Amino acid sequence: MMQKDVIIIGGGAAGFFAAINIAAQNPSLKVAILERGKEGLSKVKVSGGGRCNVTHAEFIPQELVQNYPRGEKELLGPFHQFMTGDTIAWFEKRGVPLKIEEDGRMFPVSNSSQTIIDCFLNEAEKHQVEVFYSHSVKSISNENDRFQIETSQGRFSSKKVLVATGSNPKIWNLLENLGHTISQPVPSLFTFNITDERIKDIPGVVAKNVEIKVLNTNLWSEGPLLITHWGLSAPSILKLSAYGALELAKREYKFQIEVNFIKQSVEDCLEALKALKQDLAKKAVFKSTQFDVPKRLWHKLVLASYMDEQTRWADVNKMQLEALASQLTQAIFSVNGKSTFKEEFVTAGGVNLKEVNFKTFESKYIKNLYFAGEVLNIDAVTGGFNFQNAWTGAYIAAKAIVNSQ
Ligand SMILES: Cc1cc2nc3c(=O)[nH]c(=O)nc-3n(C[C@H](O)[C@H](O)[C@H](O)COP(=O)(O)OP(=O)(O)OC[C@H]3O[C@@H](n4cnc5c(N)ncnc54)[C@H](O)[C@@H]3O)c2cc1C
Repeated sequence: MMQKDVIIIGGGAAGFFAAINIAAQNPSLKVAILERGKEGLSKVKVSGGGRCNVTHAEFIPQELVQNYPRGEKELLGPFHQFMTGDTIAWFEKRGVPLKIEEDGRMFPVSNSSQTIIDCFLNEAEKHQVEVFYSHSVKSISNENDRFQIETSQGRFSSKKVLVATGSNPKIWNLLENLGHTISQPVPSLFTFNITDERIKDIPGVVAKNVEIKVLNTNLWSEGPLLITHWGLSAPSILKLSAYGALELAKREYKFQIEVNFIKQSVEDCLEALKALKQDLAKKAVFKSTQFDVPKRLWHKLVLASYMDEQTRWADVNKMQLEALASQLTQAIFSVNGKSTFKEEFVTAGGVNLKEVNFKTFESKYIKNLYFAGEVLNIDAVTGGFNFQNAWTGAYIAAKAIVNSQ
């Protein structure tokens, strides 16, 4: 049986960040990470398309929390303790400068997730964090004020345990056995599968700013929309997939959306089209793209409005004009299934947030048991917010563990 002061279960983003911070703040503590993989940090490696979107350039806690469909309320206090600016400073201090992209996402200047991994591995070594790879945790029990942890390669014992196993069903089962409740895990951050003539054969087309509603729900979002080979993607869709993770899972990913491509009311659009009918009378509707709609999308919407490539504005009848206004402002698409968004995905669900003290990230039920990262029922929209949750939780838990020795 190996005796440690602190055991971190899971050598991912939150696990490494916590272990390093504990060992750096109190070098006398024996800190060990138990990781089931042959290597750790595998998600960091593939994150952000291999570039690792470490955090987001949002520096106001009240604004930052709004990116968390689950965890918004609970993270406000923690963000006042460890914010995005602290993340930037933490990495910079260890020789990893970050840069901001136009949309606010922050990456290492190197553009490589390996820089983050190298930083963590060096820091872990420097502060003598022991990492036990290929050690899959099989059971956790709590006797006489110490935790007993059984792994695929032997037993460990420690006074304090931090669970940072991400979205791992086996560990959630173990935590249920210890008395915690787990909110139902479902995927978040996915794209919508749609087969529809209006978006067929035009992958890569981007409508810069659309409004989307999921019919028969309260879900809506706005932002850029990308037409893909399989359907629709980009932030407007990913936001819906995050906020609607539970609702859309219940519907088995079969539902209808209404897209307003020009963010105008159907009435205003119809008035504008009537004016165009006068002004452009001799021109073909197909060839006179309007409202900043991408040309190839405009072509598709015109053809879907009972017109052909030759139809001139002067010859457009009332029904066709109304159909075009409707296609531009309230186009209905049927979603049938989802696809993985390869740059980033997470699981909604995890340890029930009511059972965690967010001043310390300690379990309210089991003393000396802490959580950080995706193991909790916290997840965010795309953009670096999921890692920020891991850094903040890990940092605060680390501080609490050090202070309570
Ligand atoms: C492809 C992809 C790209 C992403 N890109 C981004 C991005 O750019 N920006 C962003 O903010 N978020 C991104 N995310 C989300 C982000 O990776 C996660 O939110 C984050 O990694 C969660 O950190 P974690 O430490 O909680 O879990 P993880 O990083 O998943 O780490 C959990 C660790 O625990 C280990 N483990 C699990 N079970 C056991 C066990 N029984 N015993 C021992 N060890 C165990 C696992 O092997 C793993 O190493 C991405 C996710 C994916 C899948």
